Amino acid sequence: MSKQTIRDINFAGKKALVRVDFNVPLKEGVVNDDTRIRAAIPTLKYLLDQGAALILMSHLGRPKGEAKAEFSLEPVVSVLSDLLGKPVQFASDCIGEEAASKAAALNAGDVLLLQNTRYYAGEKKNDPELAQKLAKLGDVFVNDAFGTAHRAHASTVGVADYLPAVSGLLLERELDYLIGAVSTPKRPFVAILGGAKVSDKIGVIENLLTKADKVLIGGGMANTFYKAQGLAIGNSLVEDDVLDTAKSLLAAADGKLVLPSQVVIADAFSADANTQTIAVADGVPDGWMILDVVTDEFSAVLADAKLVVWNGPMGVFELAPFAIGTNSVAQMIADSDATSIVGGGDSVSAIKKSGLASEITHISTGGGASLELLEGKELPGVAAIGDKMAIQRTPIIAGNWKMNMSPAAGVGLAQGIVDQLGGSIPTQVVVCPPAVSLFAVSRVVGPSPALIGAQNIYFESKGAYTGEIAPDMLTGWVNYVIIGHSERRQMFGDTNEWVNKKVKAAFAAGLMPILCCGETLAQREAGETNAVLKAQIESALDGVSADDFETMVIAYEPIWAIGTGVTATPEQAEETCAEVRCMVAGIYGDTLAEKVRIQYGGSVKPANAFALASKPNIDGFLVGGASLKADSFVEIIREAARAYG
Ligand code: AMP
Repeated sequence: MSKQTIRDINFAGKKALVRVDFNVPLKEGVVNDDTRIRAAIPTLKYLLDQGAALILMSHLGRPKGEAKAEFSLEPVVSVLSDLLGKPVQFASDCIGEEAASKAAALNAGDVLLLQNTRYYAGEKKNDPELAQKLAKLGDVFVNDAFGTAHRAHASTVGVADYLPAVSGLLLERELDYLIGAVSTPKRPFVAILGGAKVSDKIGVIENLLTKADKVLIGGGMANTFYKAQGLAIGNSLVEDDVLDTAKSLLAAADGKLVLPSQVVIADAFSADANTQTIAVADGVPDGWMILDVVTDEFSAVLADAKLVVWNGPMGVFELAPFAIGTNSVAQMIADSDATSIVGGGDSVSAIKKSGLASEITHISTGGGASLELLEGKELPGVAAIGDKMAIQRTPIIAGNWKMNMSPAAGVGLAQGIVDQLGGSIPTQVVVCPPAVSLFAVSRVVGPSPALIGAQNIYFESKGAYTGEIAPDMLTGWVNYVIIGHSERRQMFGDTNEWVNKKVKAAFAAGLMPILCCGETLAQREAGETNAVLKAQIESALDGVSADDFETMVIAYEPIWAIGTGVTATPEQAEETCAEVRCMVAGIYGDTLAEKVRIQYGGSVKPANAFALASKPNIDGFLVGGASLKADSFVEIIREAARAYG
């Protein structure tokens, strides 16, 4: 995404003023459901690990601008303290003397929760004075409250006028899915909308009709469309004042809007009403009402969907006889291979009740905010966050063929790749054949926009080094060279010192290094990832000038994910690539670190390329096994290009 996140800032020794959503249900002064507190933990732990002190702000309920004990955030303190595994201090007012002195006394690793921001009327009015007082407590503003990001309040928007503002991990993930995945969708993209009223979702339908391949409509809102088509709907819930809008949406949809042809009708709004399943075309008799839909038409559409977005129930799911449509949509989405995004309280609770939550790619935490994003609106809480630096890094996808492909086979593979890509290549593409095939493959790749890379070099320029290749031998006809691949480090004894010599020798010969780094599973499990990467990177770059550094590529390849079929999750890959960027920033400064390209490598395939490439710090891939087939390599390139936009 284009907004700054907590990963873009060095928090060591800083006080992070974090807007969280601790608007939790309380029962007799005790937190009744800690879901929202848990949702904030990854961001809070990340900040604490980075050396920040935390000052947390939230609203709870609707105290209407007055200090009312039943809306106190104090009951959150013990729950949060248990989840973080450390003490949490509390300030009985969100501004004023106590908050200021407690905030000032915080050390790295300390946590302070402020009292309900809605004790002040200025919160909802986005009062600049309140915002400024809150902002004075911290050094950096972190917004992680997606549920209130559609509100311009002092603690969600106002504070950003006085502090650098970045998103937390929860907000970042919501934006990745609800903006990122939807604006450059995998296709077919199917949206499913339900709920009581069309009037609430007109903007969403209009926007999704421009983006999705099909928009499936169920729930009470379908009734208005049936009536707009001239069908009899008996006593069903209907909104006559938007009938004309429904008619024009149907006309504009050009067949994209799908309404169920069969519905469940009842003679009363009650669980023990008489029911019938009928074809809507036959008309609903007077005295009867549509309370659920039959989702048969939906299953055919969902069968080959690649992206599904669902918001709103298909019927009166609170009453068991009319929950069948909603539950079957939940099941169909869970069963499909598509990327799935579910938002809205009712759909989310249907998914959770059916035990299907783990099958869903992204469950949104904010009803109103997610609907506004689906309408294509910019949320005020997001607009207030700083934009990322406008440095554009050219994505680079390299195929490391390893010890595969003879000259003849390599020529065939390269030809397949070049032919499928055609003349305009959406990212930089590099193929890296084994040494013996390099020349033959270069003849095929040379006339195309793709580039060629070697898999290794030696650092001496000539002499008695049987079996080795001097960098100069590649000058002029090879563009890149992979250096320090984990297989060379592990099997052929390449040390950090050798890697450094090879990097410098590559630059001297006019070759651009793709410098590999990565940790083993044991090192990851021992929490040594960052230390290992730091040692590899610092030694590899020792003596490399800033000008050279800027042109090179770093490939982060977790060794546990190479050729094992195990992939780092996009979040794991992003987190480590961001760490690598921080490490090189420590050597060359932020500006150059922002310019250098960092690839991810390790079981990259067409199915995960989009999600990985959508991450802000992943600028391409070093592909292993999947680069040995033209089809899969080209599909990875196309998926990545879709993410890079
Ligand atoms: P919304 O708040 O707009 O997402 O709507 C959710 C509500 O829509 C739920 O409480 C459902 O009971 C209700 N609903 C869904 N289908 C129907 C229907 N056919 N008739 C009346 N209400 C419905």
